[in-house]
Amino acid sequence: MKIAVLGAGVSGLTAGRLLSDKGYQVTIFEKNETPGGLARSRFKDGYLYDPHGGHIFNSKHPEVVEWVFSLLSKENWQFTERNAKIYFNGKYISYPFELSLCELEPEDAVECIYDFLLSQQGEEPSNFKDWLTWNFGKGIADYYMIPYNEKIWAYPLEKMETQWMRGKMPLPEKKEIIRSILLKDPTERKMPHSTFYYPLHGGIQTMINAIAGGVTIRCNDPIRSLEKRGKQWIVNGEDAFDTVISTIPLPVLPDVMKLPDKVTEHIRDLKYNSLTTILFDCPKTDITWLYIPNHSYRSHRVGYQSALTPYAGPDPHRGCAALEIIGRQFEVSPSLVRKAGIVPDELGFTKVLDSEFTEYAYVIHDLNYRVNLDIILKYFSQDASFKLLGRWGTWNYKNMDLCMLDAMNLVKEM
Ligand SMILES: Cc1cc2nc3c(=O)[nH]c(=O)nc-3n(C[C@H](O)[C@H](O)[C@H](O)COP(=O)(O)OP(=O)(O)OC[C@H]3O[C@@H](n4cnc5c(N)ncnc54)[C@H](O)[C@@H]3O)c2cc1C
Repeated sequence: MKIAVLGAGVSGLTAGRLLSDKGYQVTIFEKNETPGGLARSRFKDGYLYDPHGGHIFNSKHPEVVEWVFSLLSKENWQFTERNAKIYFNGKYISYPFELSLCELEPEDAVECIYDFLLSQQGEEPSNFKDWLTWNFGKGIADYYMIPYNEKIWAYPLEKMETQWMRGKMPLPEKKEIIRSILLKDPTERKMPHSTFYYPLHGGIQTMINAIAGGVTIRCNDPIRSLEKRGKQWIVNGEDAFDTVISTIPLPVLPDVMKLPDKVTEHIRDLKYNSLTTILFDCPKTDITWLYIPNHSYRSHRVGYQSALTPYAGPDPHRGCAALEIIGRQFEVSPSLVRKAGIVPDELGFTKVLDSEFTEYAYVIHDLNYRVNLDIILKYFSQDASFKLLGRWGTWNYKNMDLCMLDAMNLVKEM
């Protein structure tokens, strides 16, 4: 059987690799010049950069962990305990905010704790903004949750639903929050991503290259057309395949294949946001991520690449970090970055080393999300020879491990 996989990100590569291992004839079509999708890395002047955001690996699914380490053995990875901080009123507060109230100024802490004790009363709101206040209380919501989420989504929070965040956002029990206050222990051991792996050399691209193995990948070969002729799929007017697995963003599909108007309409109504990352030279630190909720700064998060591996830059005494800004593409010049209040000055970010724009960064779970997706998925499920997979193929907030798991399950069914 001949299979075309559209997109060489983690999802397409995992499916392609597993299907090749099973003996299928697989061709992966990729529009970029290198595979990896969002999980790519590159070197610039000796600095290592994951241009679509630092990509760390961990998973609570043993089959995923075993598979990844079977391809790139454990001694090639650095194991790290997350040391994430929140820049709040000029201080570094431990992440997550709600487990670190003991680190706030006493008056702020009292306000947060008081509101928190009164929280979770009455009916649970269905929109994200009201839910944040309902769940955490007004103090935590106003100081951190609402401003941070306004920055990372750049979409009205009252127009977002709440189902997406289970398992993605740390949602500690009330008792855990009270324990953290009493014991002054902002522990986050049970939170998602509290420990993780990152390749010692070459960035997350090293994992990608290990997955890609000997699979046929046609880079610089974007999908221009998909047409069903009889039982076969003709890709780009040339090659015939029995099955197509699409991991490319759903909004690309109406441009390359014939779809009913209703399906196209729902695809066009899907929401997502875009990201600019800027890599800086900076003082060395053991902070892994810094969250910046304050609206005075455009960046919502800084990822310290040099905390992920000791080989992130040419000078072992200096660090490098990528700041992230959600929104439309803009020109990144060193002077613009200094003047525009993008990050707090005291972080010591002076020299811009590199930058990148990512059009498809985060799926936005707006209030139409479920209806749109149900209709789209139902339509595509009618043809067993066309399968959707991945973060953008199934339009779902998924990290790399869940993309791998989905690909594994899909291949098992084939
Ligand atoms: C800022 C940020 C940080 C993240 N950090 C982490 C992390 O630390 N850990 C983690 O596990 N996950 C992280 N993720 C999530 C992770 O990036 C995704 O789960 C994963 O990379 C998605 O893989 P994918 O293959 O489904 O999609 P993608 O990586 O988007 O792959 C889709 C591929 O399709 C290609 N394509 C698009 N259009 C066409 C076309 N017309 N023709 C051919 N090819 C096309 C693209 O170039 C791309 O290669 C992060 C995401 C973001 C945005």
